[in-house]
Amino acid sequence: MSEASWQDAIKWDENGLVPAVVQDVLSKEVLMLAYMNRESLAQSLASGQTWFWSRSRGELWHKGATSGHTQTIRSLRYDCDGDTLLVQVEQRGAACHTGSYSCFYRSIDLPGTDKAEAAAGEPQERPEERFAVLGELETAIAQRDAERPEGTYTSYLFDKGVDKILKKIGEESAEVIIAAKNEDPDELRSESADLIYHLLVLLRERKLPLDDVLRELGTRRNKPTTNKMR
Ligand code: AMP
Ligand code: ZN
Ligand code: ZN
Ligand code: ZN
Repeated sequence: MSEASWQDAIKWDENGLVPAVVQDVLSKEVLMLAYMNRESLAQSLASGQTWFWSRSRGELWHKGATSGHTQTIRSLRYDCDGDTLLVQVEQRGAACHTGSYSCFYRSIDLPGTDKAEAAAGEPQERPEERFAVLGELETAIAQRDAERPEGTYTSYLFDKGVDKILKKIGEESAEVIIAAKNEDPDELRSESADLIYHLLVLLRERKLPLDDVLRELGTRRNKPTTNKMR
């Protein structure tokens, strides 16, 4: 779309502000909500990083200026009626000033749902829910990458770097092969889980969204498998 169209479409409120939802471009997790005015939007476009208007401080705010937790903009959208922006970012460190990866770490229990039950989960029937654990795992891995809590294995992998992660993928692949050869279903299940986990860590490290991989699988639907797979 041309510049003029978004300039005309965005509805600034009576204070000249528009809310901006900030989302992790890799895991799609919603990270925070802040407000932009025309100047902060212009700064964001010029710098490629997020700038907001701080309503509490009454000043332009370069996210990460003091914490170092900057956000590199990967896409910028506005919604149907032009009253909200969606900013997809590569988040450095944690988005929230509390140190949490996302600002949305608190929740209100829904009436009639027992917390333990909700956590344990009902049998998940819809296919998109069956694979929700993959998305949750991707988000959890992104959090570890951002926060690097001490003593967690995922932090350790990110600290060690890509070569360590690649080595683990090699090892876990070999373990999957051995489990399959041994016709050991318990081992195969466990080693397959290890392999998928390490693959997700690698995708995060290389900044490739799981969505891209799933989309790639989708484009192959109903098509004969090509020779290069053999
Ligand atoms: P930062 O922009 O990360 O350097 O943080 C500077 C200040 O902005 C912090 O001390 C907070 O007051 C505020 N701040 C940072 N991140 C957030 C956020 N996600 N939501 C609200 N306020 C924030
Ligand atoms: Zn709207
Ligand atoms: Zn926050
Ligand atoms: Zn293993």
